[in-house]
Formats: sequence, C-alpha cells, structure tokens
Amino acid sequence: METASVQVQAPNSISSRPAGKPKIAYFSMEIGIDEHIPTYSGGLGILAGDTLKAAADLNVPIVAVTLLSEKGYFYQEIDPDGNQIERPYNFNINDFLKPLPSKTDVTIEGRPVNIRIWYYLVQGISGYIVPIFFLDTNLEENSAYDREITKYLYGGDTRYRLAQEIILGIGGIRAIHALGYTTIDKYHMNEGHAALGTLELYRRYQEVDKVREQCVFTTHTPVAAGHDQFDLTLVKSMIGDMLPQSLYPEVTFENRLNMTRLALFFSHYVNGVAKRHGEVSRLMFPGYAIDSITNGVHTATWVSEPFARVFDKYMPGWRSDPFLLRAAFSIDKNDIWAAHIEAKKKLVDFVNNRYNVGMNYDHFTIGFARRQTAYKRPELLISDPQRLMNIAEKAGPIQIIYAGKAHPKDGSGKESIRRIYSVMKSIKGKVKMTYIDNYDMAISKLMTSGVDIWLNTPRRPQEASGTSGMKAAHNGVPQFSTLDGWWIEGRIENITGWAIGTRKSNERESDDDADRDDLYTKLESWIMPKFYNDRDNWIRTMRSCIAINASFFNTNRMIQQYVLNAYFM
Ligand SMILES: *Cc1c(COP(=O)(O)O)cnc(C)c1O
Repeated sequence: METASVQVQAPNSISSRPAGKPKIAYFSMEIGIDEHIPTYSGGLGILAGDTLKAAADLNVPIVAVTLLSEKGYFYQEIDPDGNQIERPYNFNINDFLKPLPSKTDVTIEGRPVNIRIWYYLVQGISGYIVPIFFLDTNLEENSAYDREITKYLYGGDTRYRLAQEIILGIGGIRAIHALGYTTIDKYHMNEGHAALGTLELYRRYQEVDKVREQCVFTTHTPVAAGHDQFDLTLVKSMIGDMLPQSLYPEVTFENRLNMTRLALFFSHYVNGVAKRHGEVSRLMFPGYAIDSITNGVHTATWVSEPFARVFDKYMPGWRSDPFLLRAAFSIDKNDIWAAHIEAKKKLVDFVNNRYNVGMNYDHFTIGFARRQTAYKRPELLISDPQRLMNIAEKAGPIQIIYAGKAHPKDGSGKESIRRIYSVMKSIKGKVKMTYIDNYDMAISKLMTSGVDIWLNTPRRPQEASGTSGMKAAHNGVPQFSTLDGWWIEGRIENITGWAIGTRKSNERESDDDADRDDLYTKLESWIMPKFYNDRDNWIRTMRSCIAINASFFNTNRMIQQYVLNAYFM
C-alpha cells in the first residue's frame, strides 16, 4: 500500500482538482471523527469515524453523510452525589466545518424543509481524501421547529426523531445528488436510522430490485426493543406517500414502520458487527441472509504516543498496514513496560490533578468506561464492596477508574452512576476509585491506554460488538470481559485476557451472581497474582494483545472485508 502513488481526489464542488469517482455513500446518524467535533454519542459514531479514516488510508472511494448535531449529544457534569447534569455543547461549527453552496430539501408534514450542507475532509495516510457531509436545517427560511431538527443528537420525542431520520435518509440521498455525485452505486446504511433513504431511491427507480442492488445495511442492535419503530399514523402524517401502501406488508408490523425491516427489505447485503451478533440477528430476523463483519478500531488513532514510538522502532509501516503488528512478539519486554508506564502516568496524573485521588503509578488499575446502561452492568465490579476490599488486602492494592454517560432518559443508567459514587465514598481509603466526567474520545484514549486491565461486563447477548477493548489491545492492555460481542473472537484465555463466566454459563443468558463470583475469583486468584508476582508473564500477555488482537481488530482489515463482501459483489 505504501508504494501506491499518491492520489488526491475531492468532490467536484469542493475542489478544482479532477473529480474523483466515489462509488459508495455511507450514512450514519452519528460520526465521531475528531475529539473536538461533538457529533457523536458513543460506539456507533466512533466506528463510523474509524471506518472513514481507514477508507481514506486505503483509497476506498467513499463519501459520508450525517447530521450536523450542532449541540452534540450532551456535555456531562456530575454533582457530588453522582447526579448527572446534561448541558449542550457549544461547538463553533466554522472552526471545523465548511459550508457548501449546494442545498437540498425534503417535505415534512407537507412543508418544505431546506437543508444546508457542511463538509469535513478526512485525509488518509497517503493523501487520499474522503469527504463527510453534515446536514443542517438551521436556516432562516425554515420554521422554528424545523430549525431545531439537526441540533440534538438522540434528543427530543418520537416526532423529532422521525424528522431527523427523514433528513438523514431522504435528505441524505438528495444531498448526494445535489452535490453532483453521479457514480455512486452503493448506499451503505450504518444502522437503521438512514433507512428512509431507501424510499427516496424507490421513488426514483420504482423497482424494488433496482434499489436492492444498491443498498447495503449494517445492523448494530441485538435486542428487539432497540430497533427504531414509528406509528404508521405518524409516518403518514410526516412523509405522506413516500411510503407507498404496497410496501406495508414488507416493512410494517402491528401498524408500525420498523426501520430495521425497511433496511433489510431493500438491501442485497446485510451484516452484523461480530460473529455472534450475526447469529443473533439471523434468529431475530429469520428469512434474511445476514452475514457478519467484525468491527475494528482505527489503529493510528488509538495507539498512544509511547506505543507509537515503540511500534515505529520495531514495525515501521504499522500505521498504513496494521497487519504488521503481528510482529509485536519480537518487542523487548522492557520496551513494552516502559511505554505502558508512560501511558499510565499520563492517566494517573490526569485523575490526580483533576480529582485529587492520590492514585499510585505502581498499583493495579482497572478501567471501565462506556455508556451507562443496565445491560452493561456498570456496577458488577463494585457490587460486593466488602469482597473487593478483601481482595485488595490479600492480592495487592486496587485502583478503579470509571467513566461514561447515561442517556438523559435512561433512569437506571443514571442510577448506576449514583450507586458508583456512593460505593466510591464507602470504600474510600481501602480502594482508590474515581469517576471521570464527560467520557469522550480523548478520555477514551487516555483510559484505554493508561489502565492495567480493561473491564467489560455486558449481559449476553446484548453487546453487538464493543470496540473499547480493541483500543485497549492496541496499547497492550488486556481485557477482562463476559463472552459477548467481539470478545468471543478475541479472547484467548490468559494470553489476550480473561473471560468472566464459565464455558457452561456462557451457553445461557447471563447470571449476575455467577458472573460476579467469577469476576472476583479470577481477579484474586489469576489476574492480580500475575500482575504483582509474575511481571514477566504479565508483559507477555500485553504483547500478545498487540500481536494477536490489534493486528486483526482494526478498521483497516474491516474495511477490506466491506469492500470484498459488501461493496463490490
Ligand atoms: C470507543 C468508544 C465507545 C465505544 O466503546 P464500547 O466498548 O463499544 O462501549 C464509546 N464512547 C466513546 C467515547 C468511545 O471512544
């Protein structure tokens, strides 16, 4: 790849350079491309951003569409009792994005809603450019309600959400055409939010097969309740005949339009985001051929500075070809440890400066950060504080760093944060603990590279993939997790990390008590003794995480699978 000639392509309307020929249009409700652009909430958006970065690195002719979400998801503050406070982001759009002269519009509830298009250019490692288009309805000519549609990511009620999906799906397809792209032959929907775009294509072609041969759909949701659905009355009042009655039997259920079914019906290729998730999706939607392509993370984005230096020394070229990381087995163990300690110091200094918790560079540090919601069981680790304190006394000191936002309407997720705060106070002096507020890309990188072990505790089979453990693997940090999502593929016991739960229990749904017991037992008898008393072997495990997992669970490998299996078939 590195010897390929540098090829810079940009869309007609942006540059005077010869127009490229983008073939794929990628749609995602959220895209996390840069820590300063708050147009993402979590895993789905980061995956989209990492996908586009890898596409740019490999000269994959793709363009992307998302919503502007100018107030972001929300900025999280937490009060001393653990109550989450949500504030809007105020990000200065003009500092990061540029507006385009082309506009488009959609019809919502019979009135035209005008859409402005902003863009951001992702530049790949050899200069190739992938544009991201941000749709914006905050224009003077729109009504007060319509001006708000692209403000809050995942905010508002059902009507607001449907309006957003109209902008993203129908507006997104129209934007691609308004920008003059005539060579797109695949429309990739990253989750069902953009599924209404299929109706715009159907309006143009009037032929299901013609739409189908152009659509690719990636589902991310392994639970039925997680799929977007809208009452048909609402749909009809908002988009009128865009949804023809002839399609009702295929895409509606109990008088509701199901966005996943709509996307499934109109796509010739569908995939889940890990092998197990593919199986679960096939059971949930019998009759559809659902493949799986396991997620990855963008290597150059998530490797911390100290490890980047080590990789440069031993495996030059790893940024453009992360497969090279398999040679990590040859890295001197002292170099691995020195890089880890440097990354760990950065995290420990950060939490000590900000939260005054007096954490120690040498103490075993556990990280847990993700969306705070019931199925991820954020409190499993601290659910028996006495046992945790006993382990710290017997096996060695423990430090715990938490982070994560709860969706503003997720009461139980917010309750989790409060309970974590209350345990944090009650075990003070015995186990050092802190909760970093406003989890974002920057905090994620600091944490996944700076802790000694990355913990994940989802209830099977609800974690479609999970990607933060892949970021940890890129920094030699082993994962300790229930066997769900990507971890079923990535875990080799005691070599890349550890599983929570026995083989037997893994055939059933998760049992909190059994998982808690296994978590504590393994921590005390296997993991901490290895960390404190068998450092050489601990570093071997760190090295295997890089060689075995980082070399595979990256978006460079992932986008190649999309190209082969989804785009050019
Ligand atoms: C990587 C990342 C996620 C996704 O992590 P999961 O393991 O899938 O939960 C969520 N939020 C942020 C800010 C991230 O960087």
